[in-house]
This record gives sequence, structure tokens and C-alpha cells, in this order.
Amino acid sequence: MDLSKYPRRRYTSYQTPIEELPRLSDALGGPKIYMKRDDLLGLAGGGNKTRKLEFLIADALRHDADVVITCGAVQSNHCRLTLAAASKEGLKCHLVLEQRVPNSYNKHAGGNNFLFHLLGVDGIHVVDGGSDLVAEMQHVADELASAGHKPYIIPGGGSNEIGALGYVSCAQEFLQQSFETGIGFDSVVLTSGSTGTHAGVLTGILGNNAQIPVVGIGINRKKESQTEAVYSLTQKLFEKLKIKIPFSRNDVIVFDDYIGAGYSLPTEGMIEAVKLVARTEAILLDPVYTGKAMAGMIDLIKKGYFASAKNILFLHTGGSPALYAYADKFYD
Ligand SMILES: *Cc1c(COP(=O)(O)O)cnc(C)c1O
Repeated sequence: MDLSKYPRRRYTSYQTPIEELPRLSDALGGPKIYMKRDDLLGLAGGGNKTRKLEFLIADALRHDADVVITCGAVQSNHCRLTLAAASKEGLKCHLVLEQRVPNSYNKHAGGNNFLFHLLGVDGIHVVDGGSDLVAEMQHVADELASAGHKPYIIPGGGSNEIGALGYVSCAQEFLQQSFETGIGFDSVVLTSGSTGTHAGVLTGILGNNAQIPVVGIGINRKKESQTEAVYSLTQKLFEKLKIKIPFSRNDVIVFDDYIGAGYSLPTEGMIEAVKLVARTEAILLDPVYTGKAMAGMIDLIKKGYFASAKNILFLHTGGSPALYAYADKFYD
């Protein structure tokens, strides 16, 4: 696949490392666990949205935008990184924040909310959970346009067929690293949220005719709707990249058993997983995404799901700044 024809800005000057996690692997007694450290990507605080924004911001600049608008939850990593990219490019940035948990917006909260202010956000528009976010963003865009600006809307999570190219490229990167190191992976485990990461990695793997299952741990939607959403974006990517290799819904693996009471609400498993990875490998996961994905991987290892696997690659998609908004959940 030739991604070079798509406009791209560069926010990370290196390939993110793949690290072996021997103490975590020992603690779990399953296959060897490796981690792709996308938490070390560029822009303030790193994380998976940085790869998507390389393509999305390039597209915004190609359209001569001077302001970007996006949306997310009140502790959104995607909003922090969109704002960071905008700051770096000299663009203005407006955020539509959805209170998925009622009354969860607190102007003076820490974590990502603090970073919205530090990075100089130009506007925060708080809306109730379940609002039509596309319409809300369009409304902000219309107002900015009538004030003479050129707005560009980035969808939630940066998950369209432009942003997801970042994760097609990530898959190509780790396939190359696997080749260089001679370490073959029997499974890739990742967090499946707004689907750009899952669909992008799946496209990168299938499009390279690699036979590595991609296991998505859901953090939000039920299995059926998450599977459909990943399938639909993967199809769009296959069309965009003109990939002729067949794929089906069976290639989309989603577990919805680790969501708990709902998006962003802490679970016992998440808290244990975040503590375990911190105390064995000194790596910080996050409470909303990678903590729950790790809890899922740990449980699946215990249940023997990976019994025939020698090496598993866990994709660390970032998010640790949100930990500081959840500190009280981690004291015993
Ligand atoms: C957004 C996010 C995810 C989920 O990625 P999607 O592409 O939205 O599915 C995972 N981890 C972190 C830390 C995130 O911020």
C-alpha cells in the first residue's frame, strides 16, 4: 500500500518502539507480551490521535482552514491532541464537549481538561450526553464562518477514512519492525472506540496479506454495533486504498465484556490492570481506554483465549493524562 500520495504533516520524528514486557508476562503466565508504545507519539502527551491528526490536519491545511472544530467527552484525549496540533500549526481550535456522564463537565477539572486551557483553546462548547454532535459542530462552524473564518470539522476520535490512514501506517510500521527483529506476533490487541484505530490496523494487516488476528476490546458500544462500525470504516478504507484482498465481518473481532457500567466509568478490572502494568513495567495506562483493554487481555489470557499464541502485541494508544482526573479511584 502506498500511503505517500496522501498529504501528511509529521508530529513524531521516530517509529514508536515495541517493548517486551517480561515482568508483566511472568505475572500473567501466558504468552510473551509486547507493547507498541504509541503513548510515546508526538504532540502534548502523545497517544493514538497523533497519527490520525497527521493526515487530518494536512487535509485541513489543504483546504486553507484557519480554525478546526472537533468533539469528544469532557476528558477527551482526542480533543487535547487536536488542540495541540492546531497550536503547533498556528490554527485556532474549538471543542464541543459532550457530558456523556451527566454533569461531568467541571471548568477547573484536572487531566485533559487542564491541558485544554494550558494549550490555549479558543472555545469550549459543552453539550448534554446524547446530543447530535455533528449538528453541534456544524453550528459552531457556521458561526465561525459568518465571522469570516475558514472552519474545518474533524469528526469525533478523528475516525474517518482520512484519520484512520494513520493506523494503516502504524500497522505497516509494526509489520516492518516485526520483520527487522524477527519477532512474529500471533495476535494484536487494541482498544476499539470510535473505530479509526481498529479499522486502520485491520486494513494495514489484511492489506499486506498478513494473517494476524486483531482483537478489539470495546469500551463503549455493544459487540454488534461496534463490529458493524469497524466493518463499515474498514470497507471505506479498502475502497480508498483500492485493496482487492477479500475480507468479511468475521475478520472484525470485538469483545464488549470489559466496558462495565459504561463509557469512562471505572471498573475493578481496569484499576487492577493499570496498577499491575505500573508496578511490573513502570508504564502508565489510562482509565478510559487502555486500562479496560488491558483488563480484557488479562482476562482472555486467563481464560486460555491466547493458548496457542507465543507472542502478543498490545497496542498502547496513550491517554495517561486522564489518570490525573481519576486519582481518587486508585487509592485503596
Ligand atoms: C481515542 C482513544 C482510543 C480509541 O481509539 P479509536 O480510534 O477511537 O477507536 C484508545 N485509547 C486512547 C488513549 C484514546 O484516546
